[in-house]
Amino acid sequence: MAILKIACMGHPVLREVAHPIPPDQIRDPGILRLVADMIETLAEYEGAGLAAPQVHASVRLVVLAAEEGAAPLVLVNPELTWLTGDRVRTWEGCLSVPGLRALVERVAAVRVDAWNEAGERITLEIEGFPAVAVQHECDHLDGVLYVERCDPRTLTFLDELRRFGPPGGRSDDPAGSGDDEAEPDPTPDAQGAGAEGGPVADRLQGLLARPPERAVPPAPDRRARLLRGRAVLHEN
Ligand code: ZN
Repeated sequence: MAILKIACMGHPVLREVAHPIPPDQIRDPGILRLVADMIETLAEYEGAGLAAPQVHASVRLVVLAAEEGAAPLVLVNPELTWLTGDRVRTWEGCLSVPGLRALVERVAAVRVDAWNEAGERITLEIEGFPAVAVQHECDHLDGVLYVERCDPRTLTFLDELRRFGPPGGRSDDPAGSGDDEAEPDPTPDAQGAGAEGGPVADRLQGLLARPPERAVPPAPDRRARLLRGRAVLHEN
C-alpha cells in the first residue's frame, strides 16, 4: 500500500470525465491496489472521502470514510438518484482545493447504485452529511469541483473562517469541528443537514440513526456506520 499524491485544482485530471471500470475487472490486482492505496491516502489526510481522479486515476471509483473501526465504503461506478427535493447547505472542503471552505447546497437524500470492491452490486439510501459527501465525490468523477457549486460569497480560507467566522455573519454558520481541531463556535448550521443543533458529531449520529421515511435496502449496518461523527468541515 502507498500514500498517493493528491492532484490539486488546476491539474487536468480533475476536469476529465472519468472512465467506468468494467465490473469484471474490479477484482484485478491493479484496481484492488488502487482501492487499497486510496483508502490509505484517505486515512493519511483524514478526509471524509476520496475520488480516484484526485489521485491521478481517471476511473469511476470513490472511497468514503467510515467511523473508526469500520471499513471505508468503496463505490465503483456509482450512480446517484435524488430521493427528495429537499436541499441542505453544508460547509465543504476538498483535498484538491486545500485550505478553502464554502457553503454548498445539495440534495438532502440520495440513492447510490454501485459495485463494491468485491465486485458485488450494492444499493444504499443515505441522507445528511454522508449524502453530501457522496455527491461531492461523484462530482469529481464528472470533472466537477465543489467550488463551482458553492455560494461564492462564502468562499473562505479555513484559517480566516476560524478567525473571523463566516462571511457576513451568516446565520448558517459552520458548526462543530474542522479537521481534527475543535471549532471555537459550535453554532448549529441552521440549514446544513437540517439538524437541530448540538455538536455536529451528535447531529450526524442523530441523522444516521433516524429511521428513513421510505423503504431502505439492505446494508443498514454499513450505512449507519458510514461517516458517523465526521465533521462538516472535513475535506473530501
Ligand atoms: Zn473533493
